[in-house]
Amino acid sequence: MNTQPALLVVKVGTSTLTDGQTGRLRLGVMADLAQTLCLICETGWRVVLVSSGAIGVGAQRLGLKARPTDLATKQAAAAVGQGLLMSWYEQFFRANSRTIAQVLLTRGDLAQRNRYLNAQRTLQALLDLGVVPIINENDTVAVNELTFGDNDTLSALVANLLSARLLVLLTDVAGFYSANPRLDPEARLIEEVDMVSPALRQLAGGRGSNWGTGGMSTKLEAAFIATHSGIPTVITDGSQPRALLDLIQGKSVGTRFKAQPQGTSSRKRWIAHGLVPRGKLFLDPGAIRAITQHHKSLLPAGITALEGEFQDGDLVCLCDQGGREWGRGLVNYTSLDLQRILGKQTREIPLLLDEPEPPTTVVHRDNLIVLAIEPTE
Ligand code: GLU
Repeated sequence: MNTQPALLVVKVGTSTLTDGQTGRLRLGVMADLAQTLCLICETGWRVVLVSSGAIGVGAQRLGLKARPTDLATKQAAAAVGQGLLMSWYEQFFRANSRTIAQVLLTRGDLAQRNRYLNAQRTLQALLDLGVVPIINENDTVAVNELTFGDNDTLSALVANLLSARLLVLLTDVAGFYSANPRLDPEARLIEEVDMVSPALRQLAGGRGSNWGTGGMSTKLEAAFIATHSGIPTVITDGSQPRALLDLIQGKSVGTRFKAQPQGTSSRKRWIAHGLVPRGKLFLDPGAIRAITQHHKSLLPAGITALEGEFQDGDLVCLCDQGGREWGRGLVNYTSLDLQRILGKQTREIPLLLDEPEPPTTVVHRDNLIVLAIEPTE
């Protein structure tokens, strides 16, 4: 039985924290959010806040006309804005007698198992001390291929890292709608989602659609990661932070994504979501069945094609032949070697690679995680 106190991870986006016109911080919303989170702490929950806003606030302070688009200016704006953001949080939390801590993470911090465990221990220590950690991506030093990209993903990874009881994504719409509520008067709020399905992904409009600042699709991906780590996820309107109190009492607010049944270990969840995939393997239906239904490892014979350049030990996405991802795993071959052996029988491999004892599997089942999307065959 889980004896740890319940942990709530709340993510708040730039669109909630700042005024769209002026870019200024909405101090009233911030104060309300801080007070609500402190009240939640007093009920016995622990709280982690993942807050965006550094780049927007920094740009505003620097007198820039618009949010910067080039990397160096963005990183400079983040360096200016992060301090400002924290100074306001410090005031608002202090008014409620609660200590906060700034934690800045890069993708690299979670992509190596030892650094991941270290981040976990530090955050745990802060929570044990009664502190509310306020996390953002370390935008100033994050390099391109090692960014989370958006704080929705970061918050889901943090929720997973700390085995949160609930993840809440605060945004500028009331939840997940059947269509874009800004364009379609028929759009209906979906109150409960059983599973982040491909159809739902399509509804979110793919990456880059822009309902809120981060877009609904990144929120859906965050919900996917969290619910597949056994953590229910709620998307709701951030302008009324008090609603968080209703949420932790189990009331229905916004859109709730149900947690998926959990059979996977924390190491496998780290494999699936902490690491950055370096390539894709496309599998035939027989191999997909062997893995998903009979828990087999992946052999070369079941692979029809591959994409990307990777080394042995890297994370790869496992896709069906239509390109839909249904699993992930650590690969035992480089992409160059795998290219030469895909579709072949295991006994042919030593000769093909001129290696007497090549790895017996391409992805061993201990390093493979099924993400529970039904593959299309
Ligand atoms: N880390 C960015 C910031 O603080 C925000 C990323 C996001 O909007 O999700 O400005």
